[in-house]
Amino acid sequence: MVDTVCVTGASGYIAAHIVKDLLEQGYEVRGTVRSNPEKYDYLTSLPGANERLTLVEGELLTEGSYDEAVSGCDYVIHVASPYRINVKDPQTDLVDPALKGTLNVLRSCQKAGSIKRVVLTSSGAAITDEAETGKLFSEDDWNEKSTLQRNPYSYSKVKAEKAAWDFIEKEKPSFDLVVINPTFVTGPSLGPGLNSSPTILRDMMVGGYPAIMSFEFSFVDVRDVAVAHRLAMENKKASGRYICANETRSVRQIVELLKAEGYSGYKLPVLDLTSKFGNRLVWLLSFAQPRDTGTFMRLAVGKESRYDNSKIKRDLGMEFLSVEQSILETVEDLLKWGHLDRRTT
Ligand code: NDP
Repeated sequence: MVDTVCVTGASGYIAAHIVKDLLEQGYEVRGTVRSNPEKYDYLTSLPGANERLTLVEGELLTEGSYDEAVSGCDYVIHVASPYRINVKDPQTDLVDPALKGTLNVLRSCQKAGSIKRVVLTSSGAAITDEAETGKLFSEDDWNEKSTLQRNPYSYSKVKAEKAAWDFIEKEKPSFDLVVINPTFVTGPSLGPGLNSSPTILRDMMVGGYPAIMSFEFSFVDVRDVAVAHRLAMENKKASGRYICANETRSVRQIVELLKAEGYSGYKLPVLDLTSKFGNRLVWLLSFAQPRDTGTFMRLAVGKESRYDNSKIKRDLGMEFLSVEQSILETVEDLLKWGHLDRRTT
């Protein structure tokens, strides 16, 4: 008998790839979406979807909303959570859906009684919200610094992940919990929406960042993130948290790659602010940005951002697509969906 997996937030950038991978591997998949399941043709047209994908409605803030979706499932991969950086009301826009939604899903799993494991999508943001030169962040690190005012998105991920671990400890349900902590996710999108991470690459190409600033991003491809969730679900020995990160690249390296690959006709950042004026100027300019972008700039400028991926490689046998391939395929995908105009150089 084929196992049935419920994937919450199936419409999203990462979850759609999880659904695709699970279908490719022969699983029965139940995906939750927020509205009319008929509008998600990028999911319903996936190979195997006709026979093995069902879409049902699920809303993070509504108690009991996931009861039907998880009923009779063997595994649940809980991905749904708002991923937005600059919001009006951090409590209602980010923390409530992340935290209450996670508890709602876990309670539905407890009621179902058939679930063997829940895999939760947390984030590198629950490990740290601040780069630190010379430090290799590991699964032992917890972001203790974010608040509703400082990096509220990161705060929402910390609150949700901690609540999930507390639930397991206190309720002792019949299922166990494994957590995936992806860093900065890039790669092609299955649906037409524009996710926050590829948006940063798009903005870098249309003059959104006029100057090269001294930042690093720890990349991971969305297809690798999807595989990591499945391996965490399948591997009986998997336990705890897994940092899902490939390698780090600086803004300068990204710009050089894009120029070398024929994208020099775009408005890529040119002036190297850091080597000309030092990081102090970037720090000052950060105050002209939307609040949460500004906070990110101040906490990251001039610092290394390194994550230890040895646990996920060792326990789950993860191998990662190259960062350069992931970045270049993201750009081609932005062009394909019309998020970026095609220009001749
Ligand atoms: P998306 O915005 O593409 O997906 C978010 C999903 O959550 C969507 O399906 C969305 O539904 C759903 N959702 C949001 N709010 C609600 C709600 N109130 N009720 C029900 N569903 C809701 O983001 P990603 O795919 O990037 O993010 C998925 C997960 O991965 C999140 O938990 C995020 O924190 C995490 N993550 C993402 C990283 C990245 O770089 N992208 C890095 C690390 C972690 P709808 O389509 O209707 O809006």
